[in-house]
Amino acid sequence: MKTVERGKFKKMALRQIRTIGDEILTKKSKDVKEMTPRLKELIKDMFETLYDLNGVGLAAPQVGILKKIIVVDVEDEPHVLINPELLESSGEQTGTEGCLSVPGKCGTVTRPNHIKVRFKNEDMETEEMEATELMARAICHEMDHLVGELYVEKVEGPLRDQEEEEEAS
Ligand code: ZN
Repeated sequence: MKTVERGKFKKMALRQIRTIGDEILTKKSKDVKEMTPRLKELIKDMFETLYDLNGVGLAAPQVGILKKIIVVDVEDEPHVLINPELLESSGEQTGTEGCLSVPGKCGTVTRPNHIKVRFKNEDMETEEMEATELMARAICHEMDHLVGELYVEKVEGPLRDQEEEEEAS
């Protein structure tokens, strides 16, 4: 239900998603030192881009910005994690993963089932968060983007076609 109020607001600012093969996706992102109006705009655009593409997570390098910023929204709870660090991880989950930078594909990836992360929020205050299951998977996936890694390097077995997957399930 996102079309009803369109027109009331200024045009959405969608960012272009970089896709696999683009060198920027293999590069390491830099720490954010201070929040600026430009970065706030970037974060807002990242959420709009994420929702437009029905994703659950997006990392700044995916829109061509090598800064340690990820946005995640699993079950209508938007989170911004700036300079995220993994403090703890435990357990294992094996499941299907896709990436907005690898359009139309998905594959099986094993991730920790529980993680604890430290990060800065949009006001650059330090926070810690624990996450499990899909949220943990999404954060791990997005944090990999910050070090220039794609899930395709961790995939177990072949990459599959997303459409076939949906038909099959
Ligand atoms: Zn991704």
